Amino acid sequence: MVNKYYGSCLCGRVGYEVNGDFDAFYLCHCSRCQKDTGSAHAANLFAKAGRLAWLKGEADITYYQHPGSLHTKSFCQCCGSALPTFAESINCVVVPAGSLDMPISVKPTAKIFVADCAAWSADLSDVPSFDELPAQANRDSE
Ligand SMILES: [Zn+2]
Ligand SMILES: [Zn+2]
Repeated sequence: MVNKYYGSCLCGRVGYEVNGDFDAFYLCHCSRCQKDTGSAHAANLFAKAGRLAWLKGEADITYYQHPGSLHTKSFCQCCGSALPTFAESINCVVVPAGSLDMPISVKPTAKIFVADCAAWSADLSDVPSFDELPAQANRDSE
C-alpha cells in the first residue's frame, strides 16, 4: 500500500497531499539552500514516482527555478513557506520536511554538500537547548 502524507504552509492557505513513499531524506548544506531557507540547511524528502496534489490554495503558489541549476522552490506567496515541487528531471516529488503536518518515521539519509556548510552550523552539539523561548532571548527581541 502506498503511503499518503499531508502538509500545508504557515498561513494555512495552501494544503497538499503526497502519495508515495520517501526513498531519501537529505539535509542539504549547499550555499543555494542556505540562501533559500535562510538557515543552515534544507531538509527535503524525495518520493520517486510520487504523486503531488494540491488540496487548496494552488493559486497562491509561486515557483522559482534558479538559473543554470536544478535548484527549484515552490512557496506560498502569502507567507513564503516552502512547499513541495515535482522535480521532472529526476521524476521525484521533493517535500520540505518542515511543511508536513504529520510525523514521519523516515530518518535523514545523509547530510550533503557539507563542504559548503556555514561555519556556525558545523557543530551544534554543545549549544544550550530550551523547550521554549528563554527569558534572555525574550529581552533581546524587545
Ligand atoms: Zn501560506
Ligand atoms: Zn542544496
